[in-house]
Amino acid sequence: MRWTTLCDFACFAAGIGVVAWLADGAARGVPGMGPWIAATAAAWLLYPLALRGGVPAACACLAGDDAPGTASCLGRAGGVPVVFSPRYDITACGLERAHPFDSTKYSRVFRTLVDAGVLERGEECVPSQLSLAQLTRAQGWWWLARLGYGLRAVMALELPPLGFLPSWAVWWRVLEPMQLASAGTVCAAELALARPSAWAINLGGGFHHARHGFGHGFCVFNDLTMAAQRALDGGFGCRRLLYLDLDVHQGDGFERDMGWDPRVAVVDAFHPGLFPGDAAAAACPALAERGARFFHRAGDGGDRFLEWLRTELPRVLAAFDPDLVLYNAGSDVLVGDPLGGMDLPESAVCERDAIVFRCCGVGARGGAASPALGTSPEGARLFRASGGRRRAVAMALSGGYQAETAGVVARSIAAMDAELGLVEAAKAGEAPAGS
Ligand SMILES: [Zn+2]
Repeated sequence: MRWTTLCDFACFAAGIGVVAWLADGAARGVPGMGPWIAATAAAWLLYPLALRGGVPAACACLAGDDAPGTASCLGRAGGVPVVFSPRYDITACGLERAHPFDSTKYSRVFRTLVDAGVLERGEECVPSQLSLAQLTRAQGWWWLARLGYGLRAVMALELPPLGFLPSWAVWWRVLEPMQLASAGTVCAAELALARPSAWAINLGGGFHHARHGFGHGFCVFNDLTMAAQRALDGGFGCRRLLYLDLDVHQGDGFERDMGWDPRVAVVDAFHPGLFPGDAAAAACPALAERGARFFHRAGDGGDRFLEWLRTELPRVLAAFDPDLVLYNAGSDVLVGDPLGGMDLPESAVCERDAIVFRCCGVGARGGAASPALGTSPEGARLFRASGGRRRAVAMALSGGYQAETAGVVARSIAAMDAELGLVEAAKAGEAPAGS
């Protein structure tokens, strides 16, 4: 619990006490109570604005951003660039079960990876919260101010039962975990660019519907925009960035935020009949001119999609030549997902993730063909078709709403590690083969 949460709680409790005292006075006919009641109500209404958003965010706006080229949001940097904190999990006295989102999948993915021996506890990287300057730049102080009122956040989260909780409780149980997971995405981008192993996976984040000044579709903080801004302007030498969104929903938030930046290209595969259906975002030059788009159709398995990915991703990588691939790996394409409506089997989801990492050429056995190292011919072919240059890749988990999703995500990461030697390369701290 952070100090702001304690302040919220104190204000809330004091507010109840003062209102009860004033109401008691008014009921007993004490004269002059009207203005006191009005002043207290106004203070109670305005305190989230002062405490959470408006005033601190406006101050941070003037303070500038973090030092360039340094990992700004690492609380503790472990040996393996898997970014995770148990505080990612979202729980709110059971009310979170009203949403089809499995909000504890983050720790379940981590536990499964540990059980599978991919990494050990303590080897992960743990993010600390984002600076207010980073949040304000990406979100706008007005959005942060509005989030001070729990009700606006509840609308963005599409969780009406949370509206019964006071705003401090919504922040404590829901928004702070999401903010920390957003820090994790920024952290993953920094790690991928700063470390020789050139890959990082945030076991959370990927809130691709949030944008500057707005949130919807369970997305409040635009972590992918923050990661892109940090990568491009943070002194990491990242000249161009490819945003790859393979969640079943369109990445409208990122496209509206960054789609007009000439240093950005977007590859987005989504179902056009699903939320959000944002044609204006899809028309951004990063997607329409420099990127590629794929429309999922229900009932066609995953073959058509994987064939498109094997062709189009290398083409865009070779043509646009980005230094970082920011990969939003939503797993709501999986068969049986209540919000996705698609029918990709687990094997297709695993193959999808592997194609992305093969194209980027990361891992001890990634990159150019090297029989001595055990590079797969398919991996080497994709790497060559993608321009034959190793590129940093940072992955965020994004959507995925079933109980089985955590296992699928963990098995996909474990399979990539087995094929490409991701953890081996990270621990060796050496540039992988073919770079
Ligand atoms: Zn989704």
